[in-house]
Amino acid sequence: MMRLGQVLRSRALRQIRCLSGGKSHGDVLPQSCDVLIIGGGGMGASSAFWLKSRTQQLGRKLNVLVVERDAGYTSASTVLSVGGVRQQFSLAENIEMSLFGYNFVVNGQKHLGDVDLCYQPNGYLILASAKGAHVLAQNSKLQNELGARNELLGPEALRRRFPWLSTEDIELGCHGIDKEGWFDPWALLMGYKKKARALGAHFSNGEVVGFEWNASGALSAAVVDVGDGVQRPVKFDTCVLAAGPHSGQVARLANIGDPEATTSSLRVALPVEPRKRYVYVFSTQGRNCPGVATPLTVDPDGTYFRRDGLCGNFLCGRSPSDEEEPECDTLDVDHGYFETDVWPTLANRVPAFESVKIQSSWAGYYDHNTFDANGIIGRHPHYSNLFIAAGFSGHGIQQTPAVGRAISELILDGKFSTIDLSRLGFERLVNKQPMFEVNIV
Ligand SMILES: Cc1cc2nc3c(=O)[nH]c(=O)nc-3n(C[C@H](O)[C@H](O)[C@H](O)COP(=O)(O)OP(=O)(O)OC[C@H]3O[C@@H](n4cnc5c(N)ncnc54)[C@H](O)[C@@H]3O)c2cc1C
Repeated sequence: MMRLGQVLRSRALRQIRCLSGGKSHGDVLPQSCDVLIIGGGGMGASSAFWLKSRTQQLGRKLNVLVVERDAGYTSASTVLSVGGVRQQFSLAENIEMSLFGYNFVVNGQKHLGDVDLCYQPNGYLILASAKGAHVLAQNSKLQNELGARNELLGPEALRRRFPWLSTEDIELGCHGIDKEGWFDPWALLMGYKKKARALGAHFSNGEVVGFEWNASGALSAAVVDVGDGVQRPVKFDTCVLAAGPHSGQVARLANIGDPEATTSSLRVALPVEPRKRYVYVFSTQGRNCPGVATPLTVDPDGTYFRRDGLCGNFLCGRSPSDEEEPECDTLDVDHGYFETDVWPTLANRVPAFESVKIQSSWAGYYDHNTFDANGIIGRHPHYSNLFIAAGFSGHGIQQTPAVGRAISELILDGKFSTIDLSRLGFERLVNKQPMFEVNIV
């Protein structure tokens, strides 16, 4: 039997083929454009969508080109994510971006036309031990003040509401009763692409392998390898760096992070790199099993699980500690990690999970920001025509609507016009002011 995730992926694959006329070929690579976007995942495609739809509203013209090196999106974070949207963050910017993300997803057809984002409004349930209860309560207060809707539940209320849950060592739970759940990231990506294309954006296949500079030292072109052995420059006025987990690597091509650079901001690297994360899909015949309306539940040690479709499957995962980080050279899955690190927590938290059967699994790369595990959004302080949207560290798919809009605001309006994301700019790296998030999942 096909599980829901597979159904969604094959539906999205069909959409890709429809969008590209039966093949996954992109547009012919032009020699120049107004805005070049490096990376056609969620961030790049959303930026293209917002740039084109806002210029149309403003009655302006803008030639937008997205260059993507992996036409089938075989390793893009966007398509390997679990598609969760939650307001359970501690930074106001993340809460506001996620609220906008939720609104965008539930109004997907209004923004993107004929797409089904398969939104599941099941909420999140984040659990805290005595150690984390105070922070959980503090975060919940801010989240509700900003427009989220969640409730704090003590152990007895948790047991009543979720009879399958063991509340051993749990002091408090925060349950999202509205505006939280999950959706199909494939469908969202295809929705952005289809709409951006309909509005006139171009999507070409190719890998950015270098940059060119003009006489005054500004970035003027990207060097693109389309796989035919010839490297072609594509001139641009403005460039958006949205290469996901590989953004740090692409930034280095523009000498960002060069220790010999003459300006201090150019000496600071973009600290974004891939971190491998496993997702396991399992089923259970256990009694008192969590039902179809079960929220995405997060244990105090970071292990999470949620239902996956209607056939009794669950998916789960957990980020390893820094010392346990696996190699990132392949997307192979370590099944031993499930046995030793994930399953013991699951079985402890949900007795029905004492006996489970792994049905499938996959791995994907978090776009990890090693500085403070949050998105880096905005203009580069040295290159005034380079905008960055990278480093979302495992919570980026829900932020793609807000970040794409924010990038379009910076380019078209010269400032953030809706959510003020200045504190998440590159300057915080230069000034060594980390923006840590509590409750990273
Ligand atoms: C297992 C897993 C679970 C996740 N769960 C969630 C979740 O529940 N909720 C949530 O909000 N987020 C989640 N995320 C995180 C989320 O998927 C990412 O933050 C988000 O998708 C990042 O989007 P992106 O466009 O920046 O990166 P990507 O989707 O990786 O896109 C970047 C693109 O750039 C291309 N590229 C790279 N280098 C070049 C180059 N030199 N030239 C041209 N193209 C290039 C790549 O091929 C890629 O397609 C999860 C991620 C993983 C891996």
